Amino acid sequence: MPKTPETQLTAPICELFTSAQGEGLLVGVRQVFVRLRGCNLYCCYCDTPQARTTDAPCNIEDDPGSGRFTQRDNPVSVGQLLEIIDSQVQADGGIHHSIALTGGEPLLYPEYLYALASALQQRSQRIYLETAGHLPEALAKVLPAVDYIARDWKLPSTLNEPLDMSQQTRFLDLAQQRQCFIKMPVTDNISEEEVHQALRAISEVTRAVPLVLQPVTPGVGGCRPPDVQTLLEWQAVASKHVGDVRIIPQCHPLIGMR
Ligand code: SF4
Repeated sequence: MPKTPETQLTAPICELFTSAQGEGLLVGVRQVFVRLRGCNLYCCYCDTPQARTTDAPCNIEDDPGSGRFTQRDNPVSVGQLLEIIDSQVQADGGIHHSIALTGGEPLLYPEYLYALASALQQRSQRIYLETAGHLPEALAKVLPAVDYIARDWKLPSTLNEPLDMSQQTRFLDLAQQRQCFIKMPVTDNISEEEVHQALRAISEVTRAVPLVLQPVTPGVGGCRPPDVQTLLEWQAVASKHVGDVRIIPQCHPLIGMR
């Protein structure tokens, strides 16, 4: 691969593997997952705490879907990662729907992400970005090279400190330029007030972006999901603000999938 300033950019990678998407509107599609290291938030339901640290090796799946991994040093350059993704896609017969860029928080590395995503798009890959949805300046840099955006809307009670609402709405305003949906993880501890506040903020930007109420997976981080009746009530309330509101739990833990 020819060396350019873009292919020599580096970032800490947690893992690269093949699986089916386990959350949100595209649940079930086959993806290569690139999980970047590092996160500047702390969510009570975090299911990838191993990705929060930047000071650890990178794990690359040996064969797509095998669950066997080989470690390599971090950081990893864009050029090195492209070669690994190329070989994974080829080994899997090119059946992937898209490449999922996830974390941690991938938007902590906007220049790296843009270089990687635009090179992958030039290889006819579609880019699916999973993000907490609180870094609009970083999204603006990456947006031209992104096809799908799965952005969280994190309620204050699920975080160690609340996010700036204006950053979240600015992010949504940009994200709606792509195929986008909002994932709102919900626990049995959320308040009516914080849900209403979030729904008002979302609907002031758009009513057209689908909203997924995602009950947290029981036991992860000590969180519990709301009961079914509460979930259905939230769906009814949210439907007054947003056109398409769905209840979709995390599916991958149900069958032990990554
Ligand atoms: S943003 Fe993601 S990686 Fe960071 S703490 Fe929350 S769930 Fe974990």
